[in-house]
Amino acid sequence: MQYVSTRGSAPALDFEGVTLAGLASDGGLYLPSEWPRFSEAEIRAMRGLPYWQVAVTVMRPFIGDSLTEAELTVICQDVYAGQFHHAAVAPLVQLDQQHWLLELFHGPTLAFKDVALQLLGRLFETFLERRDQRLTIVGATSGDTGSAAIHAVAGRKRSEIFMLHPKGRVSDVQRRQMTTVRAPNVHNLAIDGSFDDAQAHVKRMFNDGDVTTTLNLGAVNSINWARLMAQVVYYFTSALQLGAPDRAVAYSVPTGNFGDVFAGYVAARMGLPIERLIVATNVNDILHRALSSGDYSAAGVTPTITPSMDIQVSSNFERLLFDLGGRDGAAMAAQMRGFEASKAMQLTNAQAQGAAALFSSCPVDQIETARAVQQAYQGAQQIIDPHTAVGLGAAHALAAAGAIDPAVPIVTLATAHPAKFPDAVERAIGVRPSLPSRVGDLFGREESYVELAGDYATARDYVLEYAAGSKA
Ligand SMILES: *Cc1c(COP(=O)(O)O)cnc(C)c1O
Repeated sequence: MQYVSTRGSAPALDFEGVTLAGLASDGGLYLPSEWPRFSEAEIRAMRGLPYWQVAVTVMRPFIGDSLTEAELTVICQDVYAGQFHHAAVAPLVQLDQQHWLLELFHGPTLAFKDVALQLLGRLFETFLERRDQRLTIVGATSGDTGSAAIHAVAGRKRSEIFMLHPKGRVSDVQRRQMTTVRAPNVHNLAIDGSFDDAQAHVKRMFNDGDVTTTLNLGAVNSINWARLMAQVVYYFTSALQLGAPDRAVAYSVPTGNFGDVFAGYVAARMGLPIERLIVATNVNDILHRALSSGDYSAAGVTPTITPSMDIQVSSNFERLLFDLGGRDGAAMAAQMRGFEASKAMQLTNAQAQGAAALFSSCPVDQIETARAVQQAYQGAQQIIDPHTAVGLGAAHALAAAGAIDPAVPIVTLATAHPAKFPDAVERAIGVRPSLPSRVGDLFGREESYVELAGDYATARDYVLEYAAGSKA
């Protein structure tokens, strides 16, 4: 399987290449050169298989010759029969006649990002071993990505991680999930400044010759194709349980960077009968404006009780626009240059119509979010986190508007455990969710992090001084 860049001029790479590269060298994002497709019979044959085995079947065509079937099997068993605290990995919970939750928070850091990052950590190690290389991962986080990435990399031999977070601006649970991981290859940097400052530093390091000539840098954000690929799997396992391929299923996805919902689009392209994908946003609704009126224009970020969805632009949306626009890299590059210059662009007719065929969108404000938390608790005795509540609120709204056939089950992706965001949950229902016992001593463990001044040079010099990896 070969991968091509959405901007048309970076070299095509195989799966191993795109996993280690992250972003394409022309600034674009990598996509498979064609979508593998399963027949109905092939989908039916996955029924009843354990999660790890569906993972092998669904991911196999994307990986091509980069791993043997035996290597992929060992990795999937390791990750999906070992690192998740639920035998199903991603269990379905029924709320009422039409609505279901897909619980994606049974991994080590209680958010769906573990499902992909646990796999990515092992893929990195396998490919680095083969190349006899080391990888220095540098990332910025406002919460969930940082802890999931640290847990995926801690203690590994060939990778190390420097994770920048804005000092005092991530929740206690989120900070402790990063800083209580004690491993020599984990470095937590609390930066004076905002998340945007931390992210700007990271971007600059990738373009700083002093860094890139000495270190082999790696990225763990959702521009990395391997993360999206891993997320396709749970669309298959959940739809199979609800009757696919003989019955269609709809999904409501709490969306920030458009990674998770794009994985649903991939599943549909592979032949899974998906009736509709609901893009649920909070008040930071650039995606809703793009999907409802074709206007993709950046606005300022408003902080909400769903911080993992507080985004200005959604990087993975470019993958959808490229695929729907006839896969014309030169045209995509021009469209994105226009967007970067004016912070606004209009979808083409092909893009808008292609998107409308599968996607619906719905913004959910904080009052509606709190109401969805209350409804799940009162109606089905389920305590849900605010991100999940945005998804459920959108699912209810579109079902009530008649946008989805009442006979079609709607699965809302439960992207975080409620105990990650206890204050918002307690305000909504008066009950404070407790951390699962497996992370119960989080507040008893010692933290380790360095506090750094907010300028770029301080962060860069720290990485250069403490990195163990080198290109030589
Ligand atoms: C990251 C995250 C999201 C957004 O996912 P995208 O793939 O960026 O759209 C939603 N909810 C939670 C809890 C998250 O951590």
